[in-house]
Amino acid sequence: MGIVVQKYGGSSVADGEAIKRVARRIVEAKRDGNDVVVAVSAMGDSTDELLGLASQVSPLPPARELDMLLTAGERISMALVAMAISDLGFSARSFTGSQAGVITDSVHGKAKIIDVTPGRIQSAIDEGHIVIVAGFQGVSQDTKEITTLGRGGTDTTAVALAAALDADVCEIYTDVDGVFTADPRIVPTARKLDTVTYEEMLELAACGAKILHLRCVEYARRYDIPIHVRSSFSHLEGTIVRGSIDDQAHQESTMEAAIIAGVAHDRSEAKITVVGVPDKVGEAARIFTALADAQINLDMIVQNVSAAATNLTDISFTLPRSDGAVAMAALDALQDEVGFESLQYDETIGKVSLIGAGMRSHPGVTAKFFASIAEAGVNIGMISTSEIRISVVVSEIDVDAAVAATHTAFDLDADEVEAVVYGGTGR
Ligand code: ASP
Ligand code: MG
Repeated sequence: MGIVVQKYGGSSVADGEAIKRVARRIVEAKRDGNDVVVAVSAMGDSTDELLGLASQVSPLPPARELDMLLTAGERISMALVAMAISDLGFSARSFTGSQAGVITDSVHGKAKIIDVTPGRIQSAIDEGHIVIVAGFQGVSQDTKEITTLGRGGTDTTAVALAAALDADVCEIYTDVDGVFTADPRIVPTARKLDTVTYEEMLELAACGAKILHLRCVEYARRYDIPIHVRSSFSHLEGTIVRGSIDDQAHQESTMEAAIIAGVAHDRSEAKITVVGVPDKVGEAARIFTALADAQINLDMIVQNVSAAATNLTDISFTLPRSDGAVAMAALDALQDEVGFESLQYDETIGKVSLIGAGMRSHPGVTAKFFASIAEAGVNIGMISTSEIRISVVVSEIDVDAAVAATHTAFDLDADEVEAVVYGGTGR
């Protein structure tokens, strides 16, 4: 008997009816002869509602208490799903992340899973129960505090459980039929991918495709767990995430495989410019050390050539908007030491990225990408690349146009609309 690990997102468990539907689906997998372990997200938009409540009582809530609050969302859905399953005549046991042995570091709000000790889950499976685990949460090894894994973290809970239990596959049930060549909410003619490699999926997730949590893909790649992304609202086959761009099989098949996996976009970043930085050894190190000490993840970084007359340069970078205030405060404290002129903060940016393993061997992809954006009348602010990705920063209002133009330029549009968005927010 194999172990199947499934994950249901917020829109799949949005209300009582949805929870009963999910319970029937879970029971189906059990009836097929599998041991079933399920990670669930909080119902619908309830995480956002909890965040709203927190901000009503405090503009900057203590991170520990925020984690306590947010983990309640997943506890509600885990218990309700277990109840709905028992109503179908099957026995289910729900567990919090901590009970399930999800051990993390101690960073509240974006904790990393460092170990999974699934003893209690394994015993429950051995006793014949279906196991339901609250997603997105764990317990810190050092501080013993309850932690959360960052928005969308239930995906990572599911893959970590799949790895710890040696499952064959991790099924991520969501509100679209799989991974698409672009967000179907922006490009209705987006096409579903049958398969995508870990590396491409990592780039897609890192560039704003909300379909999978970034850490979940990193985890799956490290432990070689295939992920099946599919809809909980249909029985269609979804997208399988597996394999490396370096695999022999992949190299052979790229002859026919698409050059481009998809176009991702991100409206969650901001841009900071440090204006008038003295062009001398060590200044960039000082600036970026301060940001690292504040636990801020940076994305693109650009330093301009310094003006000969002044020997001053500007350094710009992008970061999550949610870290904007903390980053500005950290830099402000540095002004006298570094001696830069001023700081600029811009939240009206968006990022558009083109991703595909085939761009390694096909020249001209960059030129075509820039040409399609120019034809859409969109101005490019910053550029960055990796081996299998090109990203540009544009004005936030131009994101949709740039995504659509690029999608068409690379022949990714389907003849007929195949993307169905069954609900929710894409989380
Ligand atoms: N409920 C959390 C969120 O909304 C975690 C998740 O859904 O994966 O981000
Ligand atoms: Mg999600």
